[in-house]
Amino acid sequence: MKKSHSLIALGAGLMIALSGGLVLANWRMAEAANGAVRFARPNYDAARGGAILDLQKYGALGDAKRLAGLSKNLGACHDALAAAGVDFTIAQPEHEGACGYDEALVVDASLSTWKAPEQMAMTCDLAAKMHLWERHIVIPAAEKYLGSPVKEIKAFGTFQCRRVAGHARLSEHAFAKAMDVAGFVLEDGREITVLKDFRNKGAKGDFLREIHDRACGLFDVTLGPDFNADHANHFHLDVGGQYSCR
Ligand SMILES: [Zn+2]
Repeated sequence: MKKSHSLIALGAGLMIALSGGLVLANWRMAEAANGAVRFARPNYDAARGGAILDLQKYGALGDAKRLAGLSKNLGACHDALAAAGVDFTIAQPEHEGACGYDEALVVDASLSTWKAPEQMAMTCDLAAKMHLWERHIVIPAAEKYLGSPVKEIKAFGTFQCRRVAGHARLSEHAFAKAMDVAGFVLEDGREITVLKDFRNKGAKGDFLREIHDRACGLFDVTLGPDFNADHANHFHLDVGGQYSCR
C-alpha cells in the first residue's frame, strides 16, 4: 500500500466527518483502512446525481456552476480529482501567523509532472483548475503549436507566507491558493520558459500567450509578463476570488 493512501485516509476521515461522506473517498478509505472506518451517513452529494464536475470533459471549462462548487464542496472537489485519475495526498493543516490553510493537498501524479523546488501544497480547487488547464488547454496547445505533449510543468511554488508586492494585503500564496508557473518541459525534451519565450514571435510564444489568455477564463487571477516586471518569469494563477487578467 502506498503511503499516500493512508494519509489520504486520515484526511478523508476528517473531511467526511465534516461533509457527510463521499463515494470515491469512501472507496479510498475502505482500501486504506481495511474496513476499520465506518461512515455514519450516506453520500447525499453523489445521490443528487451529476453533482461532481467531470474534469475529463472539455465542457467542464465552461461549467461555471460546478467550477464554483469546487471551492464550496471539498468532498466533491476531491472526488472530481480522483475520478479524473489525479493522484494526491491530503496535506496537514498549516498555520503561520495570518497565513496558512486548513485544507490543502499535494498532487502526486497528474497528466504531466508538476515540479517545484519544494513540495507544493495547494487547495483542492486550485489543483482541480490546474488539472483542467493542463488537460484541456496546455497539453492541446503544446501539441498544436509545438508538436509535442507536455512532460513537466515547472513551477516556483504555491504556499508562501507573504504580502502582494507593494501592498499591505496578503498574497493568495499565503493561503495555498496560488501557483507560479515558470515553464514547461515537452516530451521531446525541449524546454519552454515564460522568461525567455513569452515574447517569442514564433510557436513558443504563441503557445505561452494562448495558455496565458485561456487561463483567464478559468482562474480568478492570471498574471504574466505583460502585468509587471515581477511576473517576467512566471504566470501567477490563483483561485482567491478577485478577478484579474493581465
Ligand atoms: Zn504568484
